Amino acid sequence: MKNKENKRESFFVSNCVICKNKFRSEDFILVLKDNNKSIFHITCSNCLTSSIFMLLSEERNILGAGSITDLGRDEVKEKLKMKPISTDEIIEIYQQLFRV
Ligand SMILES: [Zn+2]
Repeated sequence: MKNKENKRESFFVSNCVICKNKFRSEDFILVLKDNNKSIFHITCSNCLTSSIFMLLSEERNILGAGSITDLGRDEVKEKLKMKPISTDEIIEIYQQLFRV
């Protein structure tokens, strides 16, 4: 029996993609927390690169992705504050932030 449980770990950003510095818990700022979604802004304490990490849970699925961003945490907050957020909208914002 093959173990696929560790797949979940790949959802979580734990190292800076630029300098490979391991993030500490204080590097994470929770920008948005809703029932099924969380968005974190992460600033690497070593090279000061900013990243965004989003966690979206729907029923039994957990989606997560992280990416480097030019936006500061306040700018991210501003973007998210503009309107009440539905799952569709958060995916839209996500696509903007990540330039997908
Ligand atoms: Zn770094």
